[in-house]
Amino acid sequence: MSATFLGIPPFPEAAAGAVNDARLRHNLRRATHTIRDKRASVVDELHEDWQRLRAEGAAVKEHTLRHLDHYLEQLEESVHRAGGRVHWASDAAEANEIVTRLVRDTGETDVVKVKSMATQEIELNDALAAAGITAYETDLAELIVQLGEDLPSHILVPAIHLGRAQIREIFLEQMAEWGVPAPRGLTDDPRALAEAARVHLRERFLRTRTAISGANFAVADSGTLVVLESEGNGRMCLTLPRTLISVVGIEKIVPTWSDLEVFLQLLPRSSTGERMNPYTSTWTGVTPGDGPQEFHLVLLDNGRTDVLADTVGRQALRCIRCSACLNTCPVYERTGGHSYGSVYPGPIGAILTPQLRGMSSPVDEALPYASSLCGACYEVCPVAIDIPEVLVHLREEVVERSGHAGEKALMAGAEAVLSSPRTLGAVQRAAGLGRRAVPRHLPGLAGAWTDTRDVPDVPAESFRQWWDRREGEGR
Ligand code: SF4
Repeated sequence: MSATFLGIPPFPEAAAGAVNDARLRHNLRRATHTIRDKRASVVDELHEDWQRLRAEGAAVKEHTLRHLDHYLEQLEESVHRAGGRVHWASDAAEANEIVTRLVRDTGETDVVKVKSMATQEIELNDALAAAGITAYETDLAELIVQLGEDLPSHILVPAIHLGRAQIREIFLEQMAEWGVPAPRGLTDDPRALAEAARVHLRERFLRTRTAISGANFAVADSGTLVVLESEGNGRMCLTLPRTLISVVGIEKIVPTWSDLEVFLQLLPRSSTGERMNPYTSTWTGVTPGDGPQEFHLVLLDNGRTDVLADTVGRQALRCIRCSACLNTCPVYERTGGHSYGSVYPGPIGAILTPQLRGMSSPVDEALPYASSLCGACYEVCPVAIDIPEVLVHLREEVVERSGHAGEKALMAGAEAVLSSPRTLGAVQRAAGLGRRAVPRHLPGLAGAWTDTRDVPDVPAESFRQWWDRREGEGR
């Protein structure tokens, strides 16, 4: 079994440990600032066109989500027409069951995987392992995480929390267990590490006959799936095996190829800070004699239709997983991804995970508070998701649901006092008389507030009293 987010405590507790880890903070700061600067430079060169592209991306996603039923049916028809098969999965268990059955039908016990957030979300590797099937990650960062029995901490760069020396150690200690070992004398030079991974993976690509992928986009009118990546390892998985199974969230649809054009400009600039993506693979069903001869598309709901029903929260489904919001977030930069207790960390994780999982646990209830609400995430989001708006909306929901009894009683009391001038006057007079009895440090739960603040002095008279006195003196 691979590592799991299950044991991770709610964000405040998990983050408290992370912020004290100097090496983690150093790794995160260096990596996020490098990507952040690259992004800013390639976005700036588009001047005002960037805002137009951003608005167009948001509009296409919004339109598609509003008509998702129509486009899903269109996609299913298109994939069938092109020789693929479509399977519908309402939740993670169903998706895992479908994929396991499909792999079993091939007679294989090994599969190679293209980097995919959807399969991480459903913990597919564990489900396959339970069925005696080994899934081999082929994205370099995913490979590092898998070999190190670690957890991903970033959407785009899952091993962002590790330094080169740590990666070298993992390769030397673990590669041999999974296949071709790392060369003796491996250094922590990035080229040497990449070469060790290349040799390790090459052998795997050449002998594995089934691949599993996700997709960045699914084009409804042609049935085409699209994967963007930087290394070419995804391309190997998408072309060499005989069977390809793609697990794709239902929100990944775009209506047409011309809509895709917008996202092929937005995504590389926002994710890796490149003008154009190094490897963009597209495939439409099966082509006799070329590439996989069997193609299955598993369309995954897993909470997405519930998110769609929330008029404020549903904008989270526009996300194209670029990770720009993570790279710019001051909270993520200091805590790293593991503290979020989910495969979706950072600002997008703080709004998407609790909606997908239904805010049923202390971990999910804490996530909308994992933000300073500074708005930097909204500024950089290529599809203009107003993350702070959704965070505040979800905080309201947390308060409504878990009914912070003390806070509710306090607000009810404040409403009663503030809505009656007579009561307000009486309370102000009483407060003025008892002002010397107010302690500097409040007792009970309220004490947490006064741990770092003093209770303000209560004035001897209220503004109204002062006004009345002044009026009386003037007469
Ligand atoms: S919320 Fe926006 S910035 Fe963050 S990963 Fe998604 S698309 Fe990128």
